[in-house]
Amino acid sequence: MNLDAYRIADEPYYRPVGNEIELFAAAYSDRLPVMLKGPTGCGKTRFVEHMAWKLGRALITVACHEDMTASDLAGRFLLAPEGTVWHDGPLTMAVRQGAICYLDEIVEARQDTTVVIHPLTDARRILPLDKKNELVPAHPDFALTISYNPGYQSAVKDLKESTKQRFVAIEFSYPDAATEAAIVVREAGVDEKTASLLVAIGERSRNLRGHGLEEGASTRMLIHAGRLVAAGVDIRSATQSSIVLPITDDLEMRDALTGAVAACL
Ligand code: ADP
Repeated sequence: MNLDAYRIADEPYYRPVGNEIELFAAAYSDRLPVMLKGPTGCGKTRFVEHMAWKLGRALITVACHEDMTASDLAGRFLLAPEGTVWHDGPLTMAVRQGAICYLDEIVEARQDTTVVIHPLTDARRILPLDKKNELVPAHPDFALTISYNPGYQSAVKDLKESTKQRFVAIEFSYPDAATEAAIVVREAGVDEKTASLLVAIGERSRNLRGHGLEEGASTRMLIHAGRLVAAGVDIRSATQSSIVLPITDDLEMRDALTGAVAACL
């Protein structure tokens, strides 16, 4: 498998919120592993795509989940007509060929899976493939990035302390209102007035966080609402479908949120 399919040809639009671009570039220049920390839908994935493009590196993204095993990352022997043949997993491919490997929502993975990244995140920079009896030294361009949403943290699902401490963390949160409105204009194709209204609705929903809502509306949700508006849906129905209904199943919370939206319109 070659890396060409994982190269990003066109600049992914990313609007910086703080000094995250400089921080990531500095960490990459030293190949330090990076943790992007923040709620869902606030631009972490877009940011890493932008950085891979900017640094001219291929990007291999893995969406982590609880059934993921170390073999899903590292690789496995598969049956072929000529016998069993080894297939590199996405992590091994990135390590051998020098890509940025992005493990999205790493806490979803079981802790015994997560530990395979340990020898890659310190001075050793190696990936042991136990099943193949091979030690793969990391290509000089290889770097590891993970995302982590502290909001989902629970005793059963958290990163091991020994994993956390290996990473340089960059904090992400929702951008300020003017920046977020500019993102919504650009991504949804709505006018500034509509975007500002959606951002105000987003802010109201975020104020309900901790009062029955696990998380407020993300930038992603505001963009979805904007896209519906751009496609001709009225803003009330658009916010209902893109924000209120997906975010909560609780009827009282739904009413409170609908009320908060109505107060902005
Ligand atoms: P996360 O990975 O944090 O869950 P994403 O990177 O998928 O979130 O962000 C969701 C969407 O929000 C993106 O597809 C993009 O359209 C938009 N977005 C969020 N923040 C930014 C930003 N700073 N610049 C450009 N687009 C952004």
